[in-house]
Amino acid sequence: MDGNGLPERTTQLDPPAEFPFPFPPYDIQRDMMRQLYCCFEAGGLGVFQSPTGTGKSLSVLCSAMQWLRDDLQQTEKDLLDQNVSERAQGAAETHRSRSASTASTAGKTGAQQSSTSKKSMPAPPSWVMQKQADMRADAAKKAVDKWKAKIVARQDRIRLVRERSEEGRLSKRKFIPGVFKSGKGDDNNDDGTQDDGADSATEDADLVPRDYASDDDGGDGGLSDDSDGEEDEPPRIRKIFFCSRTHSQLAQFVSEVKNSPFSDVRLTALGSRQNLCTNPRVNKLSSLHAINEKCLDLQKTKNEIDPKTGKAVKVKKCPMLNPRSMNVTSNIILGSPQDIEEAAVVGERLGACAYYASRQAVEFAELVLLPYNMLLHKPTREAVGLDLKDNIVIVDEAHNLVETIAALHSAKLARLELEQAHAALSQYMDKFKRRLTPKHLMYIRQLLFVLKSWLTFLRKPVADGEKSEFLLSVNDFLFETKTDHMHFFKLLRYCEKSELHRKLLGYTQRHLPSVFDSGNGDVGESSGALRSKHISPLRGVQAFIESLTHADEDGRIVVRRSGRDASLQFMLLNPAIYFEEVLLKARAVAVVGGTMGSMSEFVQHLQTPKTRALKVSTFSCGHVVNGNNIIALAATHGPTNEPFRFTFANRKNKAMVEGLGRLLVNVCRVVPAGVVVFFPSYDTEDFIYQHWKACGVLDSLQRLKQVVREPRAAGKTDECLTEYSNAVQQGRGGLLFAVVGGKLSEGINFKDDLGRCVVMVGLPYPNRHSPALQEKMAYLDKRAGSGARNANGQSPGEAYYENLCMKAVNQSIGRAIRHRNDYAAILLVDDRYARPRIASQLPEWMQPYHTTVDKMGGVVRHLSTFFRKRK
Ligand code: SF4
Repeated sequence: MDGNGLPERTTQLDPPAEFPFPFPPYDIQRDMMRQLYCCFEAGGLGVFQSPTGTGKSLSVLCSAMQWLRDDLQQTEKDLLDQNVSERAQGAAETHRSRSASTASTAGKTGAQQSSTSKKSMPAPPSWVMQKQADMRADAAKKAVDKWKAKIVARQDRIRLVRERSEEGRLSKRKFIPGVFKSGKGDDNNDDGTQDDGADSATEDADLVPRDYASDDDGGDGGLSDDSDGEEDEPPRIRKIFFCSRTHSQLAQFVSEVKNSPFSDVRLTALGSRQNLCTNPRVNKLSSLHAINEKCLDLQKTKNEIDPKTGKAVKVKKCPMLNPRSMNVTSNIILGSPQDIEEAAVVGERLGACAYYASRQAVEFAELVLLPYNMLLHKPTREAVGLDLKDNIVIVDEAHNLVETIAALHSAKLARLELEQAHAALSQYMDKFKRRLTPKHLMYIRQLLFVLKSWLTFLRKPVADGEKSEFLLSVNDFLFETKTDHMHFFKLLRYCEKSELHRKLLGYTQRHLPSVFDSGNGDVGESSGALRSKHISPLRGVQAFIESLTHADEDGRIVVRRSGRDASLQFMLLNPAIYFEEVLLKARAVAVVGGTMGSMSEFVQHLQTPKTRALKVSTFSCGHVVNGNNIIALAATHGPTNEPFRFTFANRKNKAMVEGLGRLLVNVCRVVPAGVVVFFPSYDTEDFIYQHWKACGVLDSLQRLKQVVREPRAAGKTDECLTEYSNAVQQGRGGLLFAVVGGKLSEGINFKDDLGRCVVMVGLPYPNRHSPALQEKMAYLDKRAGSGARNANGQSPGEAYYENLCMKAVNQSIGRAIRHRNDYAAILLVDDRYARPRIASQLPEWMQPYHTTVDKMGGVVRHLSTFFRKRK
């Protein structure tokens, strides 16, 4: 056993000939499972690309679980063998020492023997050596037996709880104790809502930080202190951390688990308090921030009088943290796979906090499901207490992994937020000046100085010829704002330890409600989050200070001086630094996606000098459908032979737009059921729609199919999808206008009749003139060194730029053809799709079926032949 109690295995594992699978797997699934298994065994980083609709999740699940079970079985076997070999080795040593001692005695004179014994200690008698070897072997076996016994005992307990739960013998009433209820009126106090009332002696005492030398930082609720006599020390279990982008993707994965041969897995799905909080007085609060803050507040231990004994007792104020019901809930969660919603229901039924119970279950889980931010954002990972060491990490839907890491660590600070923070903190300091220790005052003054300096910098008017948006290195920003002498590490540590942001929130809510109104009607999108009265004015400031502690070369500050919408934003240039720890700690990391783009570039973006030595394996496979089910056409010219080229400068060319309309009318005549058209941006879609409306194309389209447009507002997406799918299912046929990178280009399946044809209009390149993008490209070029070029002759920055576009194209294309018997046409409308460099970046599975057609008649002929054969 190693220092962490995780047994060590000595035999290497080979993938099995067949993996348990709910149905006979396709060849590509079998290949992928084998490669994944080898990656888990060999360690390092594995990048896996498999088109959507090829049963990727199931392949990931079955290979990972098979490896985990094989690992456990082989470990036990190795330990047993080790035990036998220890004994044998002991016997051999005994034998050797006996022979040596006989030979030595026989060959030496008395004087020689005496001089040898002076130089070295005599070997212990053979029976002692044997005994020592046996003892070593016994101790090893005992440790393994104990480890196994703990696992079996815990499993038995889980089984028992699950049986009782299924029989309905567990109920909320049984587990909620009344003993710690306050005598002050339970209704008001069980969530702490009335605790903040001030009396004259202790008015606002809760708003002043404690002396800043203390290590008391609130913690996570200290659930371990409340443990209800579970095992002395829990057995350490190797686990799989499976991470995906959204809760609904995790829920989908849980349903795959339930229908797989591994439905007996011990699984826990981690979600946010918004999804898992079971305290009705907290989970009804309007925002996640408010729920988080309230929950953390309730976790602080407070003194109360036990009504039975009349003595003061320390108590946590959320009644859902009852240790016994928490243990039962966590065992039920582990007893059979539950998604986040189901775990919340269990918690509610038992009167336990499902948020902490699901975290408590991590310790004994084999499979832990978690959203991206919990794995990729270090402070969140640490707050949850995820231990990745020697475990397997799988990142699903990883095509935008690098961009997601960058976004998670990009802190934005709006001018209004700075103003609010400065105003609130000044008044806070004035009010509590006499009660704050000199150390607190020193740090608060430093903070005020920093806020004022940044505000002055942001308020500077933009002179003629000056840009309103520009980038600075971290060092230059500090120099320009005259805050380069500040010790930001210390300041940050102070903010964290003192929890000043929470004190300030309490103070503003109680005494300065007007602070939250100051932006009404006068702030732009960038500062929208500020208006919530549940967010501390210091929260954003603290996150921004944290970003300043990065190495100068890893990030830039984007300065936007645009009046009330002015802002500062930290932009992370090197997201790999946040993936480094994951790679170094985990035994193996597999990143899996449908459209990863160039594998080698993807890997480079994730590597740092420290992780470059790790083994890297890559895998890419074709689609499960056969060639008769796919047709991919690049339409390069319109009906009057004008080329299609939807560049930024040409996208509003009316002749070309009309040509596109006529092409689409013909497409709708020959393609049955649903057609989805992706436009490069909302603006382009709107311009084209309005033009078609004016020139009559829209009427023609509407006569053929029901036209539905993707709304800009997120709340209306469901409505639009329902309208489109009703039109398709009722036989009218639907034509859906969607936007690349919008709400419909990821995570929505247009399978079967919902997507018989996907039309991609133009190439959705990001804005090349954006200072942030230019900086990122320059950073990549600089990092690779001058002259670095890929096979297409592009510098790393150019390759990155094009990759962003092609990943978006491939994501949108991947919405159609979702299973083996599905079929669809892909129509790429732009003459640049005929270029070999662009064509080579389309999905690999599509490339054999990719044909360039330069006449509209040719496009229509190809499509009608394809769909005639499908009837
Ligand atoms: S401890 Fe759990 S139930 Fe209680 S407020 Fe926090 S998240 Fe909600």
